[in-house]
Amino acid sequence: MPIKDGTREADLYRKLGEGRVQCQSCAHYCVLKPGERGRCGVKQNTDEKLYTLVYGKACAANIDPIEKKPFFHFFTGY
Ligand code: SF4
Repeated sequence: MPIKDGTREADLYRKLGEGRVQCQSCAHYCVLKPGERGRCGVKQNTDEKLYTLVYGKACAANIDPIEKKPFFHFFTGY
């Protein structure tokens, strides 16, 4: 459940005690103290819970001409 736009509790982590958590989303397995962010910069330990800060946000956007799409019976420029 998102708590604000782009922020959601992560699914893959474990609590280590003393306020620390370990992210298990990738091979870095960052161990984060309260308030710290992971190596990727998008996971943060807040109140002994790991949050992802970019949930639901696009990681890439691109503008392509419609002519590249595999549409059938689609006539541009007419
Ligand atoms: S905090 Fe980021 S870099 Fe660290 S293990 Fe999690 S996903 Fe990987």
